[in-house]
Amino acid sequence: MRPPLGLLLDVDGPIANPATRTVAPELLDHLAALLAAGVPVVLNTGRSVDFVLEHVLGPLVAAGLPERARLHAVCEKGGVWTMAHPDGVDAPRTDPSLRVPDAGHALLQALAASYRDALFVDVSKQVMATVEARSDIPPGHFRVRQAAFEAELLAGLVDAGLGVRLGDDRFPDRTGETPWRIDATVIATDIEASSSGKALGARRALDLLAADGPLPTAWHSVGDSRSDYDMADHLHRHGHAVTHVHVGAVPPLRDRPYPVVTVPGMVDDEAGAAHLRAVLAGLSR
Ligand SMILES: [Mg+2]
Repeated sequence: MRPPLGLLLDVDGPIANPATRTVAPELLDHLAALLAAGVPVVLNTGRSVDFVLEHVLGPLVAAGLPERARLHAVCEKGGVWTMAHPDGVDAPRTDPSLRVPDAGHALLQALAASYRDALFVDVSKQVMATVEARSDIPPGHFRVRQAAFEAELLAGLVDAGLGVRLGDDRFPDRTGETPWRIDATVIATDIEASSSGKALGARRALDLLAADGPLPTAWHSVGDSRSDYDMADHLHRHGHAVTHVHVGAVPPLRDRPYPVVTVPGMVDDEAGAAHLRAVLAGLSR
């Protein structure tokens, strides 16, 4: 039988608190209950597998994942993915075509040394190159330093001959291509493949679930950023019923061809937990 609902979840924001970057035990309990009820869950994040293992998959497996649980994680914006079982987590698989060239990693690493007051290199990434905001500094300080870092990073990547995009600006390589992208979020700046992103994550989510059982008849995608709508866009475009749950502090988009909802009065992981609780309550009615 097809599950009535599947969950496609961004991690930083709806699951992990953006300030503490940890996951509340209550929220893990909700996920465990939903998995036990037969709701497939796919995490779709820019985070590394290591982060997701430590904060979500590991604790869920340790607490006892039921046999029927269908739990996947698509990490690094579609570049790395894995699956959890009652007895552990699969070795991650990666798409090597999405791996940032060594020159990009080296440049990011060298630059980061001059920005230690605000950020650090996420060495757990396998295909992306990422600097993350220190959690012990004010967000405002990171924002200022992040903008300067980004400008230097862009200049360096262009100098190195890597075709790169930043927002709507394109800086093509010698062949006119822009295979790489600089992407900034509230807590990180990434160099990533232009073809990676939340839409690719959604595509992998469908492939992974198709391989382990029937696809759900409807989806909830949950995220806090503009780019998280790409999950719902992808599902909708391919004929899946989807509702997007926006948990970011900025107002939700109202121009989408599918329902977009918020959790009134709440944002981030508080809203994420409340939404999971509401879905659980709906299942038991
Ligand atoms: Mg997020």
